[in-house]
Amino acid sequence: MQVYNGIEALGGIEQEPNIYLVDGELLVDCGTGFLFTQLKDYIESHYDCYKIKGLVNTHCHFDNAGATKKVRDWLKAQIYMHVNDKGALESGDGMLAEFFDARPKIVTIDKPLKDGAKIKTSNFTFEVIHTPGHTPGSICLYEENRRILLSGDTIFDEKIGRTDLPTGDSSRMLMSLNRLLDLDVQYLFPGHGPPKIGGFSFHVKQMIQHFGQKRFINYDFY
Ligand SMILES: [Zn+2]
Repeated sequence: MQVYNGIEALGGIEQEPNIYLVDGELLVDCGTGFLFTQLKDYIESHYDCYKIKGLVNTHCHFDNAGATKKVRDWLKAQIYMHVNDKGALESGDGMLAEFFDARPKIVTIDKPLKDGAKIKTSNFTFEVIHTPGHTPGSICLYEENRRILLSGDTIFDEKIGRTDLPTGDSSRMLMSLNRLLDLDVQYLFPGHGPPKIGGFSFHVKQMIQHFGQKRFINYDFY
């Protein structure tokens, strides 16, 4: 489904994250791979696959990045990932595939990302915002001109990503949330669940407050 002119959200059912396809050129996250055939069939029937040049994973968890090897084999796309989560995909260690009764398929990252890196499509320029906390190499992608934030598992429409998993760090999450407060965001497109339009800084402040008071109980994996 189209969530913004030029951005389609795929996936999003059961354990699958939202898989965003930007300008028909860039994938953001790729899912577990359990529903890979459906994803591939859909994209092949609606887009020119040869135009998809890259896959950016927002972090290393299996639900978001498990299909990376399949995407690489299918599209020969460049794989982008923050340097701090790169090792997880290259070794399988830290993807938490065991939470999904799966075995990770390891893959080499072509483009290790650092904070401030720019990723462009025909109509969008995303800045990589390093937001550790859910994992050491979690990132958000910020499109300043369009006031869009693709937030991965850092922040959702009514909660934040878990920090109690083996890859988590709550003090870094708090720093990351504070950093997000500096961004001018109108459209929040998270890694799971519905988009959130407007009210971003209020939302982040609320999350920081609840997080500080340890009020989050999250029964989902993410
Ligand atoms: Zn995650």
